[in-house]
Amino acid sequence: SKYQQDFEARFNIPHITDVLPDAVSYPSTFCLKMRTPLSPDFAERYPSDEEWHGYINNRDRVLLKVIHYSSPTSAGAECIDPDCTWVEQWVHRAGPREKIYFKPEEVKAAIVTCGGLCPGLNDVIRQIVITLEIYGVKKIVGIPFGYRGFSDESLAEMPLSRKVVQNVHLSGGSLLGVSRGGPSVSEIVDSLEERGINMLFVLGGNGTHAGANAIHEECNKRQLKVAIVGVPKTIDNDILFMDKTFGFDTAVEEAQRAINSAYIEAHSAYHGIGIVKLMGRNSGFIAMQASLASGQIDICLIPEVPFNLHGPHGVLSHLKYLLETKGSAVVCVAEGAGQDFLEKINATDASGNIILGDIGVHIQQETKKYFKGIGFPADVKYIDPTYMIRACRANASDGILCTVLGQNAVHGAFAGYSGITVGICNTHYVYFPIPEVIAQSKVVDPNSRMWHRCLTSTGQPDFV
Ligand code: ATP
Ligand code: MG
Repeated sequence: SKYQQDFEARFNIPHITDVLPDAVSYPSTFCLKMRTPLSPDFAERYPSDEEWHGYINNRDRVLLKVIHYSSPTSAGAECIDPDCTWVEQWVHRAGPREKIYFKPEEVKAAIVTCGGLCPGLNDVIRQIVITLEIYGVKKIVGIPFGYRGFSDESLAEMPLSRKVVQNVHLSGGSLLGVSRGGPSVSEIVDSLEERGINMLFVLGGNGTHAGANAIHEECNKRQLKVAIVGVPKTIDNDILFMDKTFGFDTAVEEAQRAINSAYIEAHSAYHGIGIVKLMGRNSGFIAMQASLASGQIDICLIPEVPFNLHGPHGVLSHLKYLLETKGSAVVCVAEGAGQDFLEKINATDASGNIILGDIGVHIQQETKKYFKGIGFPADVKYIDPTYMIRACRANASDGILCTVLGQNAVHGAFAGYSGITVGICNTHYVYFPIPEVIAQSKVVDPNSRMWHRCLTSTGQPDFV
């Protein structure tokens, strides 16, 4: 439409191009452009044998956001109509389609889990297998130890069935194993071809999704009819557009145990200080939510908000104030916070991720040094529950999320989509093209109400 062209020309935003039919009357209504199915030609599709209690239409949309700006100027680049103050964005709804692209008897499906552990991986694997079997798929395999399993000949693919996965969600970790690093994209696609895999479900974080997208593009280049579908695994909840990702709720809940232990240690000691380090390389969601939930945190430090340790307005002098007034204090710090204070290690892991310095240990040492230096007694205890949290099994709410995401991943592959990932958006389940969601990390907005609620709850001042 004219509006669409104007919008693209003026703001050069390539992803918001799939305009809804009623966009003429609501000129600022857009839909994230979805990948076209492997075959847009419905003649090549088959009716789904399963009725699924109703189908989702390819044209169904879910509202991503509505913003009503107080004036057209504050709408800025998101609004194409100079008089418009109303912007809507929509995404494609996930779920079973009436016409499917693959004949179930011709499918060989594979599942791979990469990166670090996250509560719920087994729940997703289990649900993918169960849903594939309901479609009638007989050949389902697990690729062991992440992308590495595609190239390491000593690692045999693991046959999967309902029987194998029935109880795997009762424990944490990944039935298939995880890894970082591994073969090149073209080696992975060679291996897909050799094994005759035409559906690949990839469970992992941003690195894994970058890999999945590259595998999708390589398959396109080789004109292979393979559906590559991701399920975003990030305990940090740092994926754009999504309400939350699986494992996050469990992590926040499990973090309560560490925070409570730190509180009890601090509270029971004379001038006790408890320090808890939680996950969050780029985004402080876990630290913020865990602080809000516990009500026991006096200082919450996240990567998005700069702070000073030393000086009259630094964390350490506030700790002294807390010991003088309350008698004890508890600090919650996200692993990516305060990286400026640490010596750069200049090392990367097998996947090329920068290895962060340990801010928790640094704060522990600086706190001890500071109180010793001023001759003020303080008893500092440090807890890093990271690996205990990551290895947990999913809680009830994550269990439900994993179940729906697993089912929708299979529906998406059968619908013929590739290079997509599944998510929850405004409480509805949707598909996203992978490049959209990995373009950048979702971070805590330091101006948001939620961060200010956290500050109200901890009572901490600005540390700058
Ligand atoms: P986590 O949240 O645990 O870090 P992740 O998916 O980001 O999960 P990584 O170790 O970064 O974990 O990556 C997982 C896999 O994806 C690795 O095998 C890595 O080789 C591969 N990978 C990472 N980045 C890319 C990329 N840009 N292109 C292709 N493959 C990639
Ligand atoms: Mg990563």
